[in-house]
Amino acid sequence: MTATATNTLESINPATGEVVGSVPVTPADEISAIVSKATAAQHEWNALGLEGRLTLMRPIADRLIEVAPKIGRLITSEMGKSTPEAQGEATYGASKFASELVSAFEAFQPEEMSDENTRSILYRDALGVSAAITPWNFPMLMPQQCILPSLMAGNCVIFKPSEETPLVGQAYADVLNEFLPENVLQIVHGADDQGKALVASDINLVAFTGSREVGSKILTACGPELKRVVLELGGKDALIVLEDADIDAAASFAVQNSFRNSGQVCVSTERIYVDESIADDFETLVIEKTKDWKQGDPTDETVKIGPMVSSMQRDIVLAQLEQALKDGAVLRCGGETKDNYIEPTVLTGCSHDMQIMHDETFGPICCIQRFENDAQAVILANETPYGLGGAVYGETQHAMNVARKLTPGMVGINKGCGGSEGTPWVGACQSGYGYHSGRDGHRQFTQVRVVSIPIHEMKPNY
Ligand code: NAD
Repeated sequence: MTATATNTLESINPATGEVVGSVPVTPADEISAIVSKATAAQHEWNALGLEGRLTLMRPIADRLIEVAPKIGRLITSEMGKSTPEAQGEATYGASKFASELVSAFEAFQPEEMSDENTRSILYRDALGVSAAITPWNFPMLMPQQCILPSLMAGNCVIFKPSEETPLVGQAYADVLNEFLPENVLQIVHGADDQGKALVASDINLVAFTGSREVGSKILTACGPELKRVVLELGGKDALIVLEDADIDAAASFAVQNSFRNSGQVCVSTERIYVDESIADDFETLVIEKTKDWKQGDPTDETVKIGPMVSSMQRDIVLAQLEQALKDGAVLRCGGETKDNYIEPTVLTGCSHDMQIMHDETFGPICCIQRFENDAQAVILANETPYGLGGAVYGETQHAMNVARKLTPGMVGINKGCGGSEGTPWVGACQSGYGYHSGRDGHRQFTQVRVVSIPIHEMKPNY
């Protein structure tokens, strides 16, 4: 991203350095007027009711499926995601749109509860206007999770995509706006200044996905007026490999989950703890499998790993790598860098004396530390302010026992941390404040209200 003197945001392809396209930056002082337009549109949008909004939004799903290949190509050129992964993101997002609408529709139905004296109806009302402030690493999926349930709830939405991926954000909003009434979904472009102005404006909810640092600033900014927030933040996910693990499966997962999207995934495996009794075999397999990860031009469909999103992100990762090597980590493969590319890299002999085992790295560095017993593995895995995801590989019951002692919001046993259909995407500790997806996640985009009637007053109607 570069902001030019004419207030245009240029999107730069991190693989080639070429300009992919540009969008006008929204002047920060125009944001409150944009929010006023949303507030004015919200009454009518809400009045359509759940059925009305479902009917109106359903056709978006087919249109998204049509444009998914184009959005996928844009993801690759704006942020360097490999073609299979970028196409996967766009296709998956499009294919989930219809079922997510229905899931939100069901989650927002009123509920009736009674006791011997009172009959109550619990409504899930719109909040008003929500902001969706999103990152670049999943530039279609992350916005969808903040926009879709909010619209279905009857809110109007102001969407600020990341300054690294404005074109994907615009393409996504354009598709929705082919179907939505005017001002129900508006987009603002820019970086921190536009994000801050949006948070400070007269909105009712901030749905944010991004770093812990920015999430904390948003929570502080929303404090004085007690604005609602849903924050999905960064992580430092651990993988624990127990002595009875399928070592080959654990190594495959370690490699896949350390390097996909060049390690730029909130639930990337950022720390690996392996039982010392199997560590030699595990490390050998991880190194062997890493060599299969072809790196290069992300438009080449056989390439698995492209460049980092930007030189800034590359430099953050390289600084952590350099420090880890100074602090005694052993470089077992990779470590080279050219332009915005960082080779998939494996470090062994890592320890908690190293910054790389604490700070979010967000790069293709696989860090391995050995442990002596399960209790030590649990202590190490939990020694972090983050709590997004994690994984434990081992005999199922053994792994379950370890998993229940871990602090993250989502833990996978012999798999990644994503839960089954309908479960929320949830960061615990400093990885989240509120959460989204699934019935409970969708409901965070609503205001609960309860209306109660005394049972005896109803008797004449029986
Ligand atoms: P970021 O926090 O730097 O930026 C996210 C968004 O916030 C961008 O749109 C940015 O312009 C905006 N922003 C920046 N400063 C702001 C401010 N003061 N007020 C309001 N908005 C502001 O994050 P990023 O670099 O775009 O994304 C990477 C981070 O996102 C990583 O930490 C990653 O773990 C996290 N992430 C979390 C999840 C999850 O589900 N928990 C998913 C994807 C990414």
